[in-house]
Amino acid sequence: MSLYGVPVLVLKEGTQRTTGRDAMRTNILAARVLAEVLKTSLGPRGLDKMLVDSFGDVTVTNDGVTIVKEMEVQHPAAKLLVEAAKAQDAEVGDGTTSAVVLAGTLLEKAEALLDQNIHPTIIIEGYKKAMDEALKYLDEIAVKIDPNDEETLKRLASTSIASKYIGSGDTREKIVSMVVEAARRVAEPRGDGTFNVRISNVKIEKKKGGSLNDSLLIEGIVLDKEVVHPGMPKRIEKARIALLDTPLEVEKPEITAKINITSPEQIRMFLDEETKILKEMVEKIASVGANVVICQKGIDDVAQHFLAKKGILAVRRVKRSDMEKLEYATGGRIVSSIKDLNENDLGYAELVEERKVGNDKMVFIEGCKNPKAVSILLRGANDMVLDEAERSINDALHVLRNVMREPKIVAGGGAAEVELALRLREYARNVGGKEQLAIEAFADALEEIPMILAETAGLDPLDALMQLRNMHTEGKVNAGIDVLGGKVIEDISTINVLEPVIVKKQTIKSAAEAAATILKIDDVIAAAPPKRTGKEKEKGGEEGGFQGEQFKGF
Ligand code: ADP
Ligand code: MG
Repeated sequence: MSLYGVPVLVLKEGTQRTTGRDAMRTNILAARVLAEVLKTSLGPRGLDKMLVDSFGDVTVTNDGVTIVKEMEVQHPAAKLLVEAAKAQDAEVGDGTTSAVVLAGTLLEKAEALLDQNIHPTIIIEGYKKAMDEALKYLDEIAVKIDPNDEETLKRLASTSIASKYIGSGDTREKIVSMVVEAARRVAEPRGDGTFNVRISNVKIEKKKGGSLNDSLLIEGIVLDKEVVHPGMPKRIEKARIALLDTPLEVEKPEITAKINITSPEQIRMFLDEETKILKEMVEKIASVGANVVICQKGIDDVAQHFLAKKGILAVRRVKRSDMEKLEYATGGRIVSSIKDLNENDLGYAELVEERKVGNDKMVFIEGCKNPKAVSILLRGANDMVLDEAERSINDALHVLRNVMREPKIVAGGGAAEVELALRLREYARNVGGKEQLAIEAFADALEEIPMILAETAGLDPLDALMQLRNMHTEGKVNAGIDVLGGKVIEDISTINVLEPVIVKKQTIKSAAEAAATILKIDDVIAAAPPKRTGKEKEKGGEEGGFQGEQFKGF
């Protein structure tokens, strides 16, 4: 570009710019590719993805947000979708696969409209109207439930767990019961019949070995640690617990100091001094009445010995996050200086006990002062099973949190989507014009969900959709796909495929907003990747060499 013959440089050298339709099409394509990857993971018959990160670590999952997080997506538009999935996860903890798939489909339909020369702003407007209407319809079709009813909660938790790895028989029932029990224990009434469930109060501790069926719900906290010294008691009732984040050790000087010791007498004195300090520490702990010590840092052998002599049970090197959970559960306070420790800092639990779990020992802290802290001790053959089980439980906890907060549900298995689509088409006719086409496209996109579910169920997707449309037109609001049964059914609630209305609402919002964001972009200006300097190149070479070294080890 030039002005009066003077070249005007606006962008830095090497910057790439794509504009107008080109920009929009590549963005849409990138987002669609991501949605395409997730499609086959949707629902209880969804397939797993195996993701290998740059360190060679393998994750096997069909959890939408885990997949997009691990995929290290590069394209900026696809990244926007990843952000939408993350937002969905943060808001309601479920429906991430659906959100990405729906966003991708909305964009695919938008592309067809662009081909008919419909301007992006009209599409965006139409989508916005469709979204608002859909949210309204959801409120209309949602059914109230009783958040105090255990059976209802179990049905809901089991729907969410069903689509994941641990979805079979007795094991599933057991896990579902555990999760519901955990949520109910930590639930805080909000005074209007609904509850606040703080998911962080449910601690999930994974321990390799045994099978998922051996998992346990603990009324309190479980630590993957042993009692430090064999001479200590392994069981303390009416435990008064000191929570320390300072080591029970004599601090070694930071700088290397040289001490000139010239006689055995001096060595003795030196060691005696250390012993004396440690003894005093233990004396202090005992004097405030503690019979259990849980320490975030180390505990010196000599200190262990003194603690054992006093009949105090001690655990060391406990994770900070666990210390904080213990603080909440036992009503104690983490203390950083033993000098300042006093009686009021101690936490309380009915029982602290070391027990054998498989081949290892773990410390159980039960009957805590604050009963709103529980743990789920997960057992499983390998890390992959444990990780996937943890994710499913997390999902289920979110479902429970969602319905205990807004106790309203809608039918799953694509039923809600078909119903919304039906109502949206009617609404579209009243809107008319080009926006009508956009609203209809939104309806079509919603129906992608039942179509995918039908496909995973081994049905012909279009055929199934036609059946569903007919049923819904006849007023069968709950008609949907029974994926596990491999058929279209009139009332999906008979097989307990129900979902919190909050999740459906959020899914539609996340997807519509992500699609609109991408459709608004008509110019992509990408800076050139930073050039590697000569020095960095050298370093790169070295890294390569280092990797070579590592491989030799295998
Ligand atoms: P997301 O990450 O979107 O939650 P899921 O893999 O959990 O993805 O699948 C959720 C979808 O599967 C929802 O539409 C839900 O209604 C549906 N679904 C779950 N279980 C069943 C089932 N047994 N039969 C039919 N649909 C089901
Ligand atoms: Mg789900």
